[in-house]
Amino acid sequence: MDKQIEVNLNALPKEILYRIFNYLDDFHIFCTMKNVSIYMNTIIDQYHRYKILTTLQLCNKKLGVEQIILVANTLKENQIVTTLDLGVNGFGDEGIYYLSNALQQNQTLIKLCLQLNKIGSQGTEYLANSLIQNQTLTRLNLHYNEIGDEGAKHLGNVLQQNKTLIRLNLIHNKIGEEGTYYLANALKQNQTLTTLYLAENEIGDKGTEYLANALEQNQTLTILYLAKNNITDIGAEHFGNTLKQNQTLVTLSLKANEISSQGAEYLADALEQNQTLKTLNLKWNKIDDEGASYIAQSIYLNKQFQKALELFYQCEQTNNEMISDLSINQALKSCTNIKDFQSGLNIYQRYSSQIEKNNYILASLIHFYMQSKDIKNAQILFNRLKNKTVGIYGAMMKGYITNNMPQKAIDIFFQITNPSITNVSLLFNACARIATDETLNLVKKVLSNLPDQYQNDKYILTTAFDAFIKSNDSLNAERIFPKIPQNRLSYGNLMSAFNRTNQPQKTLEFYKQMKINQIELDPPVCVLLINACSALGIYSKSKSISEQIPKSYLDNIFINNALIDMWGKSGCVEKAKNIFDSLIQPDTIGYTSMINSYGLNGMGSEAIELFYKMPSKLIMEETYVCVLNACSHSRLVEQAQKIFSNIENKTENIYTTMVDCFSRSFLFEEAENIINIYESNHSPSPSMLMSLLSGARNAKNSQLAEKIFNRIEKYFPQIQDRIVSASILLANVYASTGQMEKSSNIKRKLIQANLKKPSGLSYTEVNDEIYMFRAHDSSHPRSSEVSDEIEKISKELISYGHKYDSSCITRPLNENESVESVLCGHSERLAIAWNFVANPNISRIQITKNLRVCDDCHESTKLIALIRQCEIIVRDASRIHHFHKNGKCSCQDYF
Ligand SMILES: [Zn+2]
Ligand SMILES: [Zn+2]
Repeated sequence: MDKQIEVNLNALPKEILYRIFNYLDDFHIFCTMKNVSIYMNTIIDQYHRYKILTTLQLCNKKLGVEQIILVANTLKENQIVTTLDLGVNGFGDEGIYYLSNALQQNQTLIKLCLQLNKIGSQGTEYLANSLIQNQTLTRLNLHYNEIGDEGAKHLGNVLQQNKTLIRLNLIHNKIGEEGTYYLANALKQNQTLTTLYLAENEIGDKGTEYLANALEQNQTLTILYLAKNNITDIGAEHFGNTLKQNQTLVTLSLKANEISSQGAEYLADALEQNQTLKTLNLKWNKIDDEGASYIAQSIYLNKQFQKALELFYQCEQTNNEMISDLSINQALKSCTNIKDFQSGLNIYQRYSSQIEKNNYILASLIHFYMQSKDIKNAQILFNRLKNKTVGIYGAMMKGYITNNMPQKAIDIFFQITNPSITNVSLLFNACARIATDETLNLVKKVLSNLPDQYQNDKYILTTAFDAFIKSNDSLNAERIFPKIPQNRLSYGNLMSAFNRTNQPQKTLEFYKQMKINQIELDPPVCVLLINACSALGIYSKSKSISEQIPKSYLDNIFINNALIDMWGKSGCVEKAKNIFDSLIQPDTIGYTSMINSYGLNGMGSEAIELFYKMPSKLIMEETYVCVLNACSHSRLVEQAQKIFSNIENKTENIYTTMVDCFSRSFLFEEAENIINIYESNHSPSPSMLMSLLSGARNAKNSQLAEKIFNRIEKYFPQIQDRIVSASILLANVYASTGQMEKSSNIKRKLIQANLKKPSGLSYTEVNDEIYMFRAHDSSHPRSSEVSDEIEKISKELISYGHKYDSSCITRPLNENESVESVLCGHSERLAIAWNFVANPNISRIQITKNLRVCDDCHESTKLIALIRQCEIIVRDASRIHHFHKNGKCSCQDYF
């Protein structure tokens, strides 16, 4: 049939063909009509639209590999198209293979856009190889692909020689330190690249160091974007040092990194000398007002230091004896600032006797040494001084901090009799950098012993706040929060500390305050709020927060990924799916969150289906864990086995999840087999053994439980949490198999050793308020009503035939306790009861619990849902249970 059409077309006069072409779009004229026959090629070459086709827009046209082959074939000989946009097609590495081949021959293309095409390291290798040959391409856009470190390496290697590329866009490509290393190496050699976009990658301080070093040599790059990476003050310092020398960079964006005032100071130092940088974007870092003023001052001082030094020399020549202390101090400061260390040393030698009499100049001299990284001479000078002022101590502390020796700064602090505000702030700054329990205690101690006049100092409190946040002490951070400047940044810091320390309700509470203070949301704070909702898992809260996210942020990938996770964990798979489906090109986190949402809600088959749809290069360890977990909770053992056997690099977590899957289905032989395979070349894993043990508990298999428990005790005597959990599981097995004596022995041992299992904690929302209940919690203001309700529910349960299951009790009973009273005190029981107290006719209750729901609570909740005709949704540590009004649970008692 093809043949016949070909014959027909060749027979048509060109005028008629032109008429046909008039109705075709660029893509068809360019690709499908070209290379059909020599006749057609000649005609098309003469066709006016083809002659002026310099820009070919094929963005978002759903082009697959077949279409790319057509484009590539035409491109090989084409001499007209200079701009080709193939973005958002998703043809992946295979498509790139054909395009790269074409690029080796093409001599016309100047700009090539390949954003959002699922290009991985393999594709990048093809592309890089083609750039060795190609001599025309100046702009390459690879925005939002997945080239990773490996791809960056290929590009970097080629860029060392490439002489045409001017702009390279690598935004959002999972490039980390290693990949940056190769790109930086390229920059040292390359002499054409002027613009490099590396925003939204995974570049930390190490990568920044590579780039900064490269920029000391590079003489072409004018624009460098590093927004949204993981750059801290250390990275800022590297850039600072480079900027003092670099004379080409005009725009540097470090937006949305982790730079604080300390980093701002380094950059400020650099700005005093740099003459070329016009734009330095530091938005959305952790820089406070003080840091901002450093930068402002340095911009003002730009060029002034050199002038000051010149004046000093003039003064010296004309009037040697009259040089004042102030002038020497100024000159020394100027030398420090322009990094003219030799001149500084000369000045010191000429005026040493005068300098040694003046404490202010001595402090400047220590600062001078420290900034020139001559720590040894700073120390020698410092030790020699008899009357040390707070300024001298401060210069020394600051020097140590600058040179990344915070512990030394702390040691110095203790030598100061009456520390100044700056000294105390420097101490807290040093503590924040170390952030251990020890430094945290030090901050608390120093803060509580501060003299009255320092108690409310904004500067001291801000640095203390930072130290608390970095040490995860949200309680103290919250305590001093009202006394420090309250802005989006300080709110964000506090919220992230709450999230990290499992206090999501606090994050939402402070958001209310933030609204009252009229502080607007930004994407990072939105993500913090969504994460808090994920942790809470309460539908109404999730809904309310999602509605408050500004519309303009709804295409932000971080926000969307966080939302998928939130809806999944709030029991709304449908909403999670809607967001997932709306993503143009979901990344690893998007896919994995969606798979996990299915898994948590017992939709194993959907999880597996999506897993198989996921591009393989996006799959990471976490993805495997989530899909295996999903199988595990839906009894899809065979499917799990199939996935498991195809995984190339199986990590401890992946093994553990598979063991868990077998154990939940009581396939203990298979589980033990896998553990043996793992242990044949790894040391035993506590979590793997725990999974098997909890399976044995569920199966009431005391023999196996005993065996595994002994292994855990033998291998991991030092991991107390594990021993406690393992002991409790074993005690439960004994209790459920009637071996009460053995069971109580274990529980007694735990009590004697003062070891406790983590206490149960449940969240629920009642009338727009989040309530938190611990087991046997009587702190609720209407606690007696809650107790009455629990008693009422218990009577109803018994009348429906419920028998309290004593094997679910994890500790010996106290004198005034019964099996019933202990089980009814479990945190989710209190949360359920409170819902009925507050709204007697409630028809939907939602609870999130930190531990696994016990068998007795599971049975009881099913009955409560039936008796009270109320849907109850409980998210426990491993999944979400939907208890329906018919008395059944969505997990089908498999949890
Ligand atoms: Zn329970
Ligand atoms: Zn259930």
